[in-house]
Amino acid sequence: MQFFTSPEGPLHRAAMRRRLAEAQNHRCCHCGCRLTEPRGTRSGNRPTDATIEHALPRSAGGADDWLNLAVSCHACNAARGDRMLAL
Ligand SMILES: [Zn+2]
Repeated sequence: MQFFTSPEGPLHRAAMRRRLAEAQNHRCCHCGCRLTEPRGTRSGNRPTDATIEHALPRSAGGADDWLNLAVSCHACNAARGDRMLAL
């Protein structure tokens, strides 16, 4: 299982997504829409489902760290494509 580094210690993906969403008042970091919590383990079921983004992609050396992460809605995530995302 993949872990992300938060101020409180390692979190798995779903816990980190919720933690980031709370920090952003459940708003998408791009369009500001109200984020929804994905149902089940896979995100992206609905356009407003929260997804984790890396500011600096992992492929470019970005860390799985709180400071390098933000949550966006699935619609923005999908629109940006793989180049800007590392998930
Ligand atoms: Zn958005």
